[in-house]
Amino acid sequence: MKIAIYPGSFDPVTSGHLNIIERAAKIFDQLIVCVMVNAGKNPMFSLEERVSMLQRVTSHIPNVEVDSAQALLAEYARKKGSCVIVKGLRAGSDFENEFQMALINHKINPNLDTMFLTAEHQFMYLSSSLVKELARYNAELTDLVPEQIIPELRARIQTNRLGGTHK
Ligand code: ADP
Repeated sequence: MKIAIYPGSFDPVTSGHLNIIERAAKIFDQLIVCVMVNAGKNPMFSLEERVSMLQRVTSHIPNVEVDSAQALLAEYARKKGSCVIVKGLRAGSDFENEFQMALINHKINPNLDTMFLTAEHQFMYLSSSLVKELARYNAELTDLVPEQIIPELRARIQTNRLGGTHK
């Protein structure tokens, strides 16, 4: 059974992420979407909230499982019996960083390869940060974020505003 892992911050999950998940789920027997703890990032949503959002927006895809991990990705993959990491590649911005990470992960775990799926043209410039920025200005989010999570995103922006938190 071919198990692939799609790691990321997913803060929050966007339509670009969901597009990669749907396409990767058709290629592999099982896809584990893993919310990674990134010490360098100050997330808007907790790990549990991000997992819960991902579970809801992928509930229609039977071979997708959502998990979270604080471990090194290469070690996590080994533990899960996976030899493939899936990544989405957007225009320009992702390449350098992703190339470096793929090489490092392969060095740590030589059985592990990274496969890139090119972003769909309409999601090429979409990122979680952009979505949060648009939400702060109350802009339209349809097509950029799965419909189910728009109310949650709007509510969080509102709460942060009231509490004076600027994430
Ligand atoms: P972001 O950069 O939006 O904060 P993540 O760190 O959660 O996203 O990204 C997880 C993975 O999803 C990475 O491989 C990233 O390149 C990919 N990805 C992010 N946004 C898109 C998109 N719009 N289309 C395709 N892949 C994407």
